Amino acid sequence: MADEKPTRLRDYGLQSERLLWPTKGPSQFEEDMGADELERALGITTLEKAVRWAQTKSMWPDTFGLACCAIEMMSIVSARYDIARFGMEAFRSSPRQADLLIVSGRVAHKMAAPLRQIYDQMLEPKWVIAMGVCASSGGMFNNYTILQGVDRIVPVDIYVPFCPPRPEALMEGIIRLHEAYLAGVPPAYERVGVAT
Ligand code: SF4
Repeated sequence: MADEKPTRLRDYGLQSERLLWPTKGPSQFEEDMGADELERALGITTLEKAVRWAQTKSMWPDTFGLACCAIEMMSIVSARYDIARFGMEAFRSSPRQADLLIVSGRVAHKMAAPLRQIYDQMLEPKWVIAMGVCASSGGMFNNYTILQGVDRIVPVDIYVPFCPPRPEALMEGIIRLHEAYLAGVPPAYERVGVAT
């Protein structure tokens, strides 16, 4: 759920007799600028927003590849795509130091338990991207060996379509994830359950 949008200077914690006076409407200054413009012009924000901003600028992915999609995922650290622009060049080898699990490829039933274990070892807040049709829904592998969607074992924040998704598509998913979190959308584990 998105944060309640502040409309008055007092919503930012500024206190003066006029701002706190219950029957006083917005001042001419507030009316002329609007809350969004005020926030930008005065450089004020909330601690929650500042923390969210910092978290989206250091959302380190876990080093975890499953199938062909992983090759596309690897290329996002290359000079051509340069995920370092978003503070994400550091793929972590330990889930305890990672914030984002990119499930890149089909998940065999045999891999379901290790994948869930890796997810459980990540500290909160944490996010999951299902990359490609196989991770999202099993894709063309509608058979007994493949999990029909990784959202059956972990809560997924963003689904990236295609087979395989190009690195641009994965980056689009990452940017959408950043935007959603900055807008106040909590991680998926707070919003959705898993089927099993
Ligand atoms: S979506 Fe395509 S590229 Fe990705 S793991 Fe499945 S078959 Fe491979």
